[in-house]
Amino acid sequence: MIKRRAFCGSALAAITAASLPVSRILAAAATPVSNDIPAVTGAGKQILLTRPDLEALRATIRGALLLSGDEGYDRARRVWNGAFDRRPALIARCAGSADVIQAVNFGRAHDLLVAVRGGGHSFSGQSVCEGGLMIDLSAMKSIRVDPLRQTAWLEPGVLLGEFDREAQAFGLATTAGTISHTGAAGLTLGGGFGRLCRKYGLASDNLRSVDIIPAGGQFLKASIDDNPDLFWGVRGGGGNFGVVTSLEFQLHLVGPTLLGGALLFHLAQAREVLRFFAEFAADAPDELNTDLILLTLPDGQRAVMIDACFCGTIEAGERALRPLREFRKPLLDAIAPTPYVRLQSDADADFPHGRSYYIKSGFLRGIEHALIDEVVSRFESSPLPAFKVVFVHHGGAIGRLRHDATAFSHRDARHTVILESAWDNRSDAEANIEWVRNTWRVVEPFTNGFYVNELATDESERRVRTNYGANYDRLVALKTKYDPNNLFRMNANVKPRGMHQPHAS
Ligand SMILES: Cc1cc2nc3c(=O)[nH]c(=O)nc-3n(C[C@H](O)[C@H](O)[C@H](O)COP(=O)(O)OP(=O)(O)OC[C@H]3O[C@@H](n4cnc5c(N)ncnc54)[C@H](O)[C@@H]3O)c2cc1C
Repeated sequence: MIKRRAFCGSALAAITAASLPVSRILAAAATPVSNDIPAVTGAGKQILLTRPDLEALRATIRGALLLSGDEGYDRARRVWNGAFDRRPALIARCAGSADVIQAVNFGRAHDLLVAVRGGGHSFSGQSVCEGGLMIDLSAMKSIRVDPLRQTAWLEPGVLLGEFDREAQAFGLATTAGTISHTGAAGLTLGGGFGRLCRKYGLASDNLRSVDIIPAGGQFLKASIDDNPDLFWGVRGGGGNFGVVTSLEFQLHLVGPTLLGGALLFHLAQAREVLRFFAEFAADAPDELNTDLILLTLPDGQRAVMIDACFCGTIEAGERALRPLREFRKPLLDAIAPTPYVRLQSDADADFPHGRSYYIKSGFLRGIEHALIDEVVSRFESSPLPAFKVVFVHHGGAIGRLRHDATAFSHRDARHTVILESAWDNRSDAEANIEWVRNTWRVVEPFTNGFYVNELATDESERRVRTNYGANYDRLVALKTKYDPNNLFRMNANVKPRGMHQPHAS
């Protein structure tokens, strides 16, 4: 039988309150008797996990159970965003679904705060927790492609670049994000934008099925035919309903060489370029994806970059991109026939692991001139070398599904605007975060909801709720059915019915 002890157990009883100050009583209470491990519940309560319970879990796991001090613990708790230096009480490094079932059952039985880690790229550090259980899926790496059925099956530790390389060996691909070291599962469950999304829809629109372990610990398949309610929810509802252990994707014939690359303009042309871009992007064919970025180049020069990719023939791409390439003389035109896998990894080095990052983002129904003026002014006056403003291209096939076709409701968005900053020294954190927040105050009124995969550290519960829009009530019903005690709360959290306490993390 599983045994759980609160901190205020025997250690505290042994102390006479009259003889010690309160701080020392609490410190003594927090000191584990024997080898017990302090941990934190989802509600933020301190508990102790006993060694026998932990050893019993270790014995059932094919992967590894890592505790502080174990070889590999520090490596496993590290996530992409270096701003999050958290220490889970235990890390279950799962080797397969059976391990995930054990971990979920353990987490539920002990009421633990649970974080689920795939590729580790959560901007807001949701895949690592302080004092709880981290369910680490990063070792689950299998990919199987069936070229005849144009289908792929992925385990949840697969990164986008690994998926692209495997599928492109057969001239196939599906929508994946633009940085190849991002996790495929996390990206897909929240929606999934990328260079192919205007042609083939979101990554989640290309899901055919998932295997999932909800809070009850049972193994479920979700597809159009099996548990269709859950299948609806995992396509945009993020990690709210359970741990996904396999994803089945529809693939498409893509490339392997596509017309794509970067166009650079001088910052002095930023307003003009953005105005042209706003109209050009609105009328672009589905095959064309163009993201625009205000950024500082490695030589310190500030510039406007347009990252383009055309997922059709090279000739059709040349025709589609001509107006953009000819409307003004660019600083650099690096658009050329390029292997798709290279386009997908060209910007990887701009997002190194371990730096600290902070973002704010929101969906746009168009790029208004007033917004252009605001963001260009803020960018011009920014004292921060790593501050970027990104306009990500949406529309096309994404917008042809109804807002309630899947849990992803923002089908009418034409772009996302992202304000992003990064720093290496802790002393620079405040200045970077403040700059993004202050800029966000002027940008937010132009936006309409945000992308759950770009959850900021300080998102309010109200904003999360508003964000799911008309799909929210259906998501609450699903959450209540599959995770009634909110075991999976480290995400853009949908609270089950009757539970409205924000979690501490
Ligand atoms: C550098 C960078 C580039 C990005 N580019 C894009 C882009 O082009 N397009 C785009 O759409 N998004 C993009 N994103 C956002 C990205 O989609 C999210 O950060 C996403 O959550 C990353 O998934 P992950 O598995 O790497 O993250 P993790 O941090 O491992 O997971 C994030 C969250 O996803 C959930 N989760 C992950 N795996 C599972 C699972 N198997 N089962 C249940 N829940 C799970 C959990 O709630 C977890 O907290 C980018 C992010 C970064 C950092």
